[in-house]
Amino acid sequence: MNHLIFLSENDWKAFLFGLLGVLLLYYSMRKESWQNPLFIIFFYFHLYRKVNEEEKLAFANATLDYCLRYIGQCKVKKPIIVFRNEKHPTALAIYDYESTRIVLFSPSHRTCKQIVDSVIHEYCHYLIIDKSNIAEYHRTQKQFKEPSINGPHEYLSNELAKKYYKDAFAFSLHKLGYCSLTRQF
Ligand SMILES: [Zn+2]
Repeated sequence: MNHLIFLSENDWKAFLFGLLGVLLLYYSMRKESWQNPLFIIFFYFHLYRKVNEEEKLAFANATLDYCLRYIGQCKVKKPIIVFRNEKHPTALAIYDYESTRIVLFSPSHRTCKQIVDSVIHEYCHYLIIDKSNIAEYHRTQKQFKEPSINGPHEYLSNELAKKYYKDAFAFSLHKLGYCSLTRQF
């Protein structure tokens, strides 16, 4: 029957998929970020894809920019992101309060999600920890069976990462020019 309208079955399939694509695109152009299905697909694709060393640094710095702008600042000088090409026995990343460095262990960070989580987590330490309370931090950490989850500082840092990672990553995608569908920051 298809020969009457000069399209084979495969042509019809291609035509319908194309039509669906055009409708999705049209619908998406009228919607902003989280209401936009194309943005959501794009967002999660980039969030969980593996990134190379250059991209790791770019996404980490963009996340740091987000933190400085939207999470809050303290009197201590701004932190610096550093990647180390080694694994730490217990941590994915650390905050060194003496040099105000956020150190990420590169082999433990393969996706953007891991990078964004770590930067926000360490940024929280940056806001809290200084010379005056570092001893207290270590003392309280020791009281918990799983200090990296249950210690008060760690708990707060993990919660902050959970709360902000989506917004921070949307900001990074926008800032780094990956996507213009995000809302204007
Ligand atoms: Zn921590």
